[in-house]
Amino acid sequence: MNVSEYVERLYASFGKAPRPDLAEITPHRCCECDEVADRLSAYAARDVPEKDMHWLGDCLPLLSAKAFRFYLPRFIEFCLRVPNSNVEALINYNLAPSTDLDVGERNRFAGFSEEERRVVLEFVEYRASLPDHIYDEPYLEAARSFWRER
Ligand SMILES: [Zn+2]
Repeated sequence: MNVSEYVERLYASFGKAPRPDLAEITPHRCCECDEVADRLSAYAARDVPEKDMHWLGDCLPLLSAKAFRFYLPRFIEFCLRVPNSNVEALINYNLAPSTDLDVGERNRFAGFSEEERRVVLEFVEYRASLPDHIYDEPYLEAARSFWRER
């Protein structure tokens, strides 16, 4: 994969995803969710600093649908540019809806446009092609069929 070329296309494809307000970033209220919202709300997706991304590595399940759609490109970019981070270790589990979590208004996967779906699918197929991700195969397979729909 040509990372620089892909990342440009990734952000361009998500150009119409609306930016969430502070109160819209995490639907749950607790210290952790409040801190996630604080750290993200200061930045557009592309500008979230590396140190925050390391901290946010396991926070994708806490995001609202709106925040997930808006910030997902940054998590994808971070995976591609910073190998062996928390983000990279966990992203395969956050690329397809979870039956426990992604229900009703909490469904992080609702509302992606066709263009967004295509560019995420490219990332999923790239992840599935990596030899060291064999243990995550069921998750990547679920992600692949999800983003291919329609
Ligand atoms: Zn919480």
